[in-house]
Order: sequence, then structure tokens, then C-alpha cells
Amino acid sequence: MVVRHASRTQRVGIVGAGIAGLAHAWSAAERGHQVTVFERSSKSSGASIRNFGMVWVIGQPDAMQAIALNSRDRWLEAAQKAGFWIAPCGSLHLAHHDDEWQVLQEYVQQHQGSLRSKYLRLLDPDQTQSMTPAANPKGLLGSLWSDTECCVDPTSAIRAIPAWLHRDYGINFQFSTAVTHVQSGSVRTADSKMHSFDQIVICCGDDFATLLPEVYQGVSIRPCKLHMMRTIQQPDSWRIGPHLAGGLTLRHYPNFNGCPTLKSLQQRIAHESPELDELGIHVMASQNHLGQVVLGDSHQYGDQVEPFDTCDIDQYILRELRKIIQLPTWDLQAHWHGIYAKYTGGLVFEQLVSPGVRVFTGLGGNGMTLSFGLAEDAWDRWEIT
Ligand SMILES: Cc1cc2nc3c(=O)[nH]c(=O)nc-3n(C[C@H](O)[C@H](O)[C@H](O)COP(=O)(O)OP(=O)(O)OC[C@H]3O[C@@H](n4cnc5c(N)ncnc54)[C@H](O)[C@@H]3O)c2cc1C
Repeated sequence: MVVRHASRTQRVGIVGAGIAGLAHAWSAAERGHQVTVFERSSKSSGASIRNFGMVWVIGQPDAMQAIALNSRDRWLEAAQKAGFWIAPCGSLHLAHHDDEWQVLQEYVQQHQGSLRSKYLRLLDPDQTQSMTPAANPKGLLGSLWSDTECCVDPTSAIRAIPAWLHRDYGINFQFSTAVTHVQSGSVRTADSKMHSFDQIVICCGDDFATLLPEVYQGVSIRPCKLHMMRTIQQPDSWRIGPHLAGGLTLRHYPNFNGCPTLKSLQQRIAHESPELDELGIHVMASQNHLGQVVLGDSHQYGDQVEPFDTCDIDQYILRELRKIIQLPTWDLQAHWHGIYAKYTGGLVFEQLVSPGVRVFTGLGGNGMTLSFGLAEDAWDRWEIT
């Protein structure tokens, strides 16, 4: 257990036990603060347990590399201390079209000599297939290997972290406890109790309505709904190897934005399959410790978010996945959706709303990747202000 010096031990209240709240709880406790986390559900059930479990360093812009790598190191440390499964599996972007292969080559060329370059390697089809039995050989032109990605099983990881933080840092977790009001110096919970704190961090994910709704007015933040699926356990201890993504993903994360061929790739996909743009579909696969393969996803924003999960979206996702990967079995064990908060003004919406009260949300598809690193960065800044 690391306890760093704190200029003054403070009472810290955190609302929400998703990955953002847990990351802040850990960083605050390491600095010697006395931390309480409030979570309205009996166990975490938000975006943080509904995702791929990809620590997706490759998808981050260059400016976020150091924070993303720090976050990755902290995942490895947390897994070791809390005793949950993690695999430093790396990732492959598979190219099955000339423009995809071109973008991958441009990306590597652009990063020559940069911090990122030592983690990247272009692979030919044979090398690709030696890294994963799942790459569809039909039309495979090559792939981009990246060394930096990790895989966790989000449900077991997010539910193991509170027990560890309580045991090693004495963090007080109050589950089944909704916070109904926040002001400088205190929070009120649904049982009408008041709790006093010096610092409060609101990590409520996509709930913009309950606490301080006025803070989100006029801010470019909105919910985003994603469809996900999970296969049954793959037979015969079959392993996918690295996380897998394909050409559709090149247009999703901002890291490939500087590649000259990206534009024509985007145009081709928009022309060939307009439904993929309409539904924000790009496809990825990861495999958990149980041998199940997690598949996704789509992106529907704001008013497009409906409670119903229409089957055509799942079918499009599976159609696109089958073009780039092959699995021993595609039999599904589960399908679900998750909703995250997406802030378009930056990678996270962090705001000091009144003395000692901060909102921290809007991490979009990067919360598992960045939360640990962003919380460290935040507490380093907040300690001196
Ligand atoms: C399908 C899907 C796939 C994804 N894949 C990845 C991935 O592979 N890699 C990656 O980096 N990111 C991924 N993400 C994004 C990532 O999951 C999110 O960015 C992250 O989980 C957001 O964390 P959070 O703590 O802000 O929100 P949440 O996990 O939603 O947590 C917010 C918590 O606050 C609680 N809460 C809200 N209001 C109150 C209140 N008033 N009182 C008490 N508690 C309250 C909620 O119950 C909830 O538990 C994915 C997201 C989804 C949905």
C-alpha cells in the first residue's frame, strides 16, 4: 500500500462507484485522504461493467499517451493487489482493404521516432496469423500490432476493486446509497442523512439529471448507447490472443485522424454501407478469462437512445465481424447495451462547480483506458490548488 504525503488530510466524498469514482477514490486515499464512496446500486452496474474491458492505449491521441500508459500501469498494479484477472494482450488492427492497409502504414510512418513507435509493428498476413487464430485469412493484407493494450473482465474487476480499496486503504463504501443533494462541504443521501466532506467528486456517469443538473446546461455532453454481445466459452481452450479491431475502427478513434488515406476510407464505407455510419458501428473483439469473446459495438447518441435493443444492430455488428474474424463458435451467451456520457469538448468533463465540489464525467469510450491516469493527474493538480 502506498500512502503519499498529503499537505493536509481531507475528508473526500465520491459519488459513483464506476471506474471514474474508483480511480478518484484510489488516488485520494494514496495521498492520505479519508475517502467515502457512495453508490446508488447494490453493486456497480453502469457503463464500467458493461464494456469490452479493453485498456485501449492505441486509440488515444498522442497528447494522452503518457496518461494512458500510466493508467495501464495502474491497472496492472490494481489487478495484482486486488486479485482480479488481467492480460497484457496487445492489439491488432486487421486490414482487409487496400485503404485500410495504407492507413496503417501511414500511421506507423507518422509515428517514427515518437514515444508510441516502440510499441508498434506492421505485420504481414503470416505474421498476423501467428499472433491470432481469429484473423480471417480471406483478403487479409496485414495488420498493425500494438504492444500496449490490456484486457480485464470489467464486471469482476469493477466489483473486486472496492473490497481491495476498503481492505488496504480503509475506504468506506456505501452501496445502495443514492446521493440526492450536493453542496460545498456536504452531501445528502436518500435516507436524508448529511455527510460532511472537504472535497466532493461527482462521478455519476450519464446521470445528468439528479445532481447539479444546471452544470450540464449548454455543455457538449450527451449519452451514448452501445450494443454488445458475448459468445459462450470458446471450445478447447481456444484463445483469441490480442484484442482485435478492423478497418471500421480506423474511423472511430481519433488517433488515425492524421492519416491522409483515412478520408477516402471513410467515404468508401459511407458509400458501401451507410447504415454503419448511421448507427456508429465499428467492430472489435476481446476475450475474457472464461474464454468468452466479447463483441461490439454501435453508437447512438442523445435522442437516438431508446430503451429497446433492435436486432438489426446486432446483425450488422455480427456481419461486419465475420468479415474480419473467425471464431470456433459464434453462439451467443448474452447481449446487452451500455450507456456512457460523451463529452465532445475534450476527453473528460471536469469542472469545479463550487468550493470543494467537482464534476468528473464524459469519458466516452475511453473510461476504462484513462480513468486511473486522469485521476492521478487530477489529484496532483488539486493538491496544490
Ligand atoms: C458498451 C461499452 C463498451 C465500452 N468499452 C470500453 C473499453 O473497452 N475501453 C474503455 O476504455 N472504455 C470503454 N467504454 C467506456 C467506459 O466504460 C466508460 O467511459 C466508463 O465506464 C465511465 O465510467 P463512469 O464511472 O464515469 O460511469 P459509470 O460506470 O456509469 O458509473 C457511474 C456510477 O454512478 C452511480 N451514480 C449515479 N448517480 C448517482 C447518485 N446520485 N448517487 C449515487 N450513485 C450514483 C451509478 O449507479 C454508476 O454506478 C465502454 C462503454 C460501454 C457502454
